[in-house]
Amino acid sequence: MRSASAGPEIERLITLLAKLPGLGPRSARRAALQLLGKRDVLMRPLADALADAADKIQACSTCGNLDVTDPCAVCAAPNRQDGAICVVETVGDLWALERAGAFKGRYHVLGGVLSALDGVRPEDLNIARLVERASEADVTEIVLALNATVDGQTTAHYLADKLEPCGVSVTSLARGVPVGGELDYLDDGTLAAAFRSRSSV
Ligand SMILES: [Zn+2]
Repeated sequence: MRSASAGPEIERLITLLAKLPGLGPRSARRAALQLLGKRDVLMRPLADALADAADKIQACSTCGNLDVTDPCAVCAAPNRQDGAICVVETVGDLWALERAGAFKGRYHVLGGVLSALDGVRPEDLNIARLVERASEADVTEIVLALNATVDGQTTAHYLADKLEPCGVSVTSLARGVPVGGELDYLDDGTLAAAFRSRSSV
């Protein structure tokens, strides 16, 4: 980890950068040098943006989305449907669904999925608030948009059980052939799931 002839300030910068997803020590060193080389156009604006974000951005107390307001812009939007809540693992997943523009209801960010391996238990996730929201009179559907991983599916089953007494319909995203995908290139699991969730043309 230690770079030859780098002082403690540079070491600290590199150590912190290396904690970012996708950046190992080598890319962190490159990023640090890039920042130092572009001090006024990149490094100071980035430092300001980081400080600003750390001060102002908070988790929405209703859905768990990140925004400068609580409730967040999605929860506060008057033109979205209150009847459906889409459950996602992370804020990144919420953003991905918003980019796709396919859903006009509300969201709920779980903050992860249940995992025996990583020691994530139901009480570690934002589940109690979800059950509370699902029990509200105008909510009729909970869409589980969790990742198609073993943990994602375990969590989906757990949530379906938890939500049953709320009297809502619980749905999940279809698994199958990606748009523009060719059958020959799909893995067996995806192909089998696509076959199971076939629909009339
Ligand atoms: Zn919100």
